[in-house]
Order: sequence, then structure tokens, then C-alpha cells
Amino acid sequence: MARLDLHTHSTCSDGTRPPEWVVQQAADNGVELIALTDHDTLAGVKAARGAARQTGIDLIAGVEISVSDPDLGELHVLGYFAPSAQLDELERQLTRYREERKSRARRTVKRLHALGMPVEYESVMDIAGRASIGRPHVARAMVEAGHVESVQEAFDRYLHNGGPAYVPRTLLSLSDSLDMIHRTGGFSSLAHPTRYDDPVGATQAFAAAGGRGLEIFYRNDTPDEIANGEQLAQRLGLVATVGSDFHGLHPSELGPGTVPMPEHQATRIMQILKDLSP
Ligand code: AMP
Ligand code: MN
Ligand code: MN
Ligand code: MN
Repeated sequence: MARLDLHTHSTCSDGTRPPEWVVQQAADNGVELIALTDHDTLAGVKAARGAARQTGIDLIAGVEISVSDPDLGELHVLGYFAPSAQLDELERQLTRYREERKSRARRTVKRLHALGMPVEYESVMDIAGRASIGRPHVARAMVEAGHVESVQEAFDRYLHNGGPAYVPRTLLSLSDSLDMIHRTGGFSSLAHPTRYDDPVGATQAFAAAGGRGLEIFYRNDTPDEIANGEQLAQRLGLVATVGSDFHGLHPSELGPGTVPMPEHQATRIMQILKDLSP
């Protein structure tokens, strides 16, 4: 059984479930600790913390920041913060990137029109609500408009990085994202290393820039991938983290709190997160 899950999304970004639901589900799955890590926002932390208190589990305030590296492309960095951390300044700094997400969604809609798949910007906004808007919201609008059967089909055919409806947006650099996280007293981890074109290069660059953790236990990565991650982490002095990356977008997705991690590694990262100070 998993003791913790350090990577989940809610309706505050591109997840389909409210923060309270995600926390409750993780608690039902038996975890002691969960981090909410919405994209470019900490807006769900308060609600998640309330739910965690009610269910008797611990909540870590978290965020997932997309960064761009000239050699490695797009990487995702997770940040985790102490309960006493002052998150207002960080949230303010991320505003710019949430605004950028909106204008990018608008440009994506235009691209879809040009591709013969009209989707209204308003319907994307209706789906996103007040969330930090992302491609999954556009994908859901494409499903609603009948252009594709599923969110996954929208990504596979149109929205994936470099796809015909892919519109890039301005991202932070790796070192700026780490500065943001560490200045707030946070702990950083490189999200889903196995998903990058060059997992080893990405992890080396992350460690060289001062990053501290590596999401070795990710979704349904294979035992071989996990073994490679463990070796690499050991060599580079990175601490193992675990995440389901729950979004609630696909029926077959793993639920919050369902990715196992060996006991000694769980104990290590839980202690580090407990010792965080602002
Ligand atoms: P954005 O943050 O708007 O660039 O969108 C990225 C999000 O879209 C990721 O956090 C995932 O939730 C989702 N995503 C990205 N690539 C894919 C893919 N190939 N298949 C399914 N979902 C994806
Ligand atoms: Mn996402
Ligand atoms: Mn990610
Ligand atoms: Mn994620």
C-alpha cells in the first residue's frame, strides 16, 4: 500500500475533481500524506488542507511548474512547501504564467478553426472555470464539439508537443523555477523523468542546477525504468519521490495514492518534507 502521493491535480488546474475530492480519495486509498501539485497555481491548497484535516491525513502544498531548456525541451518541476511557508509571493509570480496560459488557449482555438475543427474559446473557458487553463481543457472542448472521441485522441492527433494544434507558450528556465521554489523554502523534484526524450540528460541538468528530488516512482513506470531512476538518483544525490499524477481525465487512470514506494524511501522523503521550513 502506498503511504504517500506527491503528484496530483484538481479542478484548480487541469484535473476534473475538486481538491477536496482528491484528498478524500487519497485518504480512502490509505495514504498518510498527499501533495496537491496543480500547474502554475497554489489556489487549491486551502481547500485541500481543510479536507486533509477532516480526513486525518497530512497535506503538502505543492505546485508543478513547466520549464523550457534549450537542449532538453520542456521539463516539469515539482515544488513542495512547509505548512508555514508564505506562498503569496510565489502565487503572485506565477500569475504571469497563468495569464500566458489563457492567451495560449486563445491561440490554440484559432489554430483549431484553421484546421477545420471549430471550437469556441468560451466553451473552453466554461470547462476551465477559474482553473489554471491547459491543453486538457481544450481537448475536452474538442470532445464536446464532436471533433474527437476522447481527450487522449485530441492529444495523440493534434495537441501533443509539436502536434498540428500545438501552440508553445513562454516558460520559465529550469534555474528560475528552482530559485522560485527554493527561495520559498521548498523542496524541488523533477517530475516524470521517464516521459522526456532524454531522461538521463534531463536528470543530470536538474541535479546540476541544484534540484533535489527525482520522481522515480511514477504512475505505471516499469521495474526497469524504476531501477534506472534509482541508479541515476544515487549517482547524482537526488532523493526519490512518488506520484500518481492523477488528473481524472481517463477512465483507466490510477487513482490518487495508489503508486507504491519502498518503505525506506517513503520514510526518507516524508522526513525531509516534515522538516521543511519557510
Ligand atoms: P499544458 O500545461 O497546457 O501545456 O498541458 C500539459 C498537460 O496536458 C499535461 O500536464 C498533461 O495533463 C496533458 N498532456 C500533455 N501531453 C499529453 C499527452 N501526450 N497525452 C495526454 N495528455 C497530455
Ligand atoms: Mn496536467
Ligand atoms: Mn507534468
Ligand atoms: Mn502533473
